This record gives sequence, structure tokens and C-alpha cells, in this order.
Amino acid sequence: MAKVFNWQLNREMDYLYEGARPQKQFSAVFDINKCIACQTCTIACKNAWTSGRGQEYVFFNNVESKPYGFYPLGWDVRLLDALGAQTWEGNRYTGKTIFEAAPTGSAALGFLPEDEDWAHPNLGEDEIFGKVDAGTHLALTHIAWTFYLQRICNHCTYPGCLASCPRKSVYKRAEDGVVLVDQTRCRGYRECVKGCPYKKILYNVATRISEKCLACYPLIEQGRQTYCMLTCIGRIRLAGWIHPPDKVEPDNPVDFLVHVKKVALPLYPQFGTEPNIYYIPPKHVPNAFLKQMFGPGVDQAIATYNKAADDPELLGVLLLMGSTDRWIDRFRVRDGVAYGYDAKGAEIARVPLKEPIFIRPYYDAALKTYRHNVT
Ligand code: SF4
Ligand code: SF4
Ligand code: SF4
Repeated sequence: MAKVFNWQLNREMDYLYEGARPQKQFSAVFDINKCIACQTCTIACKNAWTSGRGQEYVFFNNVESKPYGFYPLGWDVRLLDALGAQTWEGNRYTGKTIFEAAPTGSAALGFLPEDEDWAHPNLGEDEIFGKVDAGTHLALTHIAWTFYLQRICNHCTYPGCLASCPRKSVYKRAEDGVVLVDQTRCRGYRECVKGCPYKKILYNVATRISEKCLACYPLIEQGRQTYCMLTCIGRIRLAGWIHPPDKVEPDNPVDFLVHVKKVALPLYPQFGTEPNIYYIPPKHVPNAFLKQMFGPGVDQAIATYNKAADDPELLGVLLLMGSTDRWIDRFRVRDGVAYGYDAKGAEIARVPLKEPIFIRPYYDAALKTYRHNVT
């Protein structure tokens, strides 16, 4: 095992290969608070990439209700249980990662789900945590809770799938950090499925090889957002490049949300893969649950997010999410307007921080008509 630096854990850790960060790293931020679980993202991805034979139960993108939704069944709780105590001292992780807890002969701690564990992707949908007695719904103030967790491959910096593949079929592209499967090399051993802590590399039962989210690379190569990002109804998603903490570009929207404002956090950072999809945590969920899921930065993230209305730059970036099908490289907020720019500096998005309100007159003289829907 080599020693690599994982900035999300604030320490070095063991990994099978030497660390080699790509020139650019594909990343995205998802604002959980805005998701309505419409599954448009799920279907957009499915139509684009997994509508063939053997892919009936393959969802590169899924949205599950927590705490009872899982795809596949128990994907996170089973691994959390096997990993044992996950301790932090401040922002330094002192427990074991899946690589450090690997049994002899394996690159990572993991498990292989049964076939039927993939069969119910909407299991537990909208089920709440907590008991609601008859009549209490009238007075309910977040005694019971649920939230939607949007999941795609994290295109990890230290992928568990890649480390676990005995054929070296899984690789990470140097130009954008996208993790792909070389389907001509894969022999379907499913060691990658076992070794991915997020269970985001999947097995095609017809072709008998593994496949996964490809970050819609034909789109991102053209400077466009991926299908699941650009179709998002709630405008909760934004794909972009992320840099490690020593190379932060503060006018890059993903760097700004993750590194500068620290409102977006990685999913289960304790697994150790340095995942590159970041989440703005839900505001209404018990703190202990969120800390296990997103690490020790949860309190600060929610406190900063709660004050977004008083922070024009943060508000501006949040409003730029979902505002264009293009890839936003830079942003700027000036005179109450947030602007997004592409890699060449051309303006591709413009959003006012405050929506203008137009009050139409009760009587429209031009049309000689009355409007009854105005106050
Ligand atoms: Fe949530 Fe957007 Fe997906 Fe709808 S399309 S489920 S709002 S992430
Ligand atoms: Fe591999 Fe899983 Fe990380 Fe995706 S989320 S890169 S499949 S370990
Ligand atoms: Fe599917 Fe593309 Fe989204 Fe990956 S990035 S989940 S391939 S739509």
C-alpha cells in the first residue's frame, strides 16, 4: 500500500496505488434542501445510457429517501456497521478508512449485494423517521423527518472500484478525473462492485461486465452540463471543476461552495475515497445523523447556508445552479446580479439576486379588459 493525502480526512492514508491527481477533476454540488424527488434526473440518465438489455435494474443516478431508502438494499448501513467506530478529532479523521480496514488479500473493505438487493430502487420512498400519533400532524414541526439523497458515481480521487479490480479494467482519466470501465478488459468478477463503498458501479446481467456513470463525458468535453444536471427540475445541481485546498480558485463556483464557504460536504468522507460529489446538507435533520453522513463540517455548513440571503456572493452561486446547460467556469456577483462565464470568459448565465415583480393594472386599457387575479 502507498501513502496518499486525503484532504477530506486531513491526513495521509493507505491506498493501493501512488496518488496522482488529474489535471482537472469532475465534480458537482447538490443542494439537498431543494430536491423534490421528481426523479427526472434518474429517468434522463436512464434514457441516455441504460435502456438496453441487462440494464433493467441499472440506475447510474438514483434519488433515495433517507433514512429508509437504499439502492441497493442497505448499501451504506451495512458498510458503516462493518467499518466499526468512525471517530474524528476536530476535522481530522482518526478512524479507519475502507482501505485501512481491508481484510488480508483485498484492497478495500466491502461486500457484494445479492441480485434482489437492486430490485427496488424506490424502497422506503417518502417514509419518515419518527412516530406520528393520530392528530399530531397538525402540530408537527420536524419531529419526524425524511430527506432525498441524490446519488451518482463520485468519480473519487481514490476510487474503491479501481483499487479492487484485479484486471485493471477501471481507470481514471488524467484530463478530467472521470472514472470509467474498459469494457474490453472487464471479465465480470464484480470485485469493483464489492469495493465501491457507494455501490455506484453496477453489473450488467446480460453482457456480464461492469458499467457505471460516465459523467456524461461526451457532454462535458463540449463544455456542457451532464444530463442529470441539466434536466433537474429543482435546479439543485451544478457540475464543475474542483481543486484541492492548496489550489482553490475562489471565483470557480464549486471551489467557492466547497472550499471558501464550506457549505457543501462530501458523502461519507470516512470511507476514504475522497468523493467528488458534494452536498449541501438538509437543514431539518438531526445533527448526529448528518454528522455521520457528511462529517464534522455539518453545523458550520448549515449556519452559513441559513444566512445566504445576507451574503450576495453565496446567494448568487446558489441561484446560478441550474441556470444554464453550459459548464460554468467562473462567476461574479455585481449590482444585484450573478453572472456565469465559460472557460473562454464568455457570459453564459445571468440571474438577478431578487426576482423582479411586475404588478399588472386591474384594467388593461390596450386590451380593454379587466384582470381579476391581481391585488
Ligand atoms: Fe431532485 Fe432534481 Fe433529481 Fe428532481 S431532477 S429528483 S429535483 S435532483
Ligand atoms: Fe468508483 Fe464507487 Fe468512487 Fe464511483 S463512487 S469512482 S464507482 S468507488
Ligand atoms: Fe447518468 Fe451522466 Fe448523471 Fe452520470 S453524469 S448519473 S451518466 S446523467
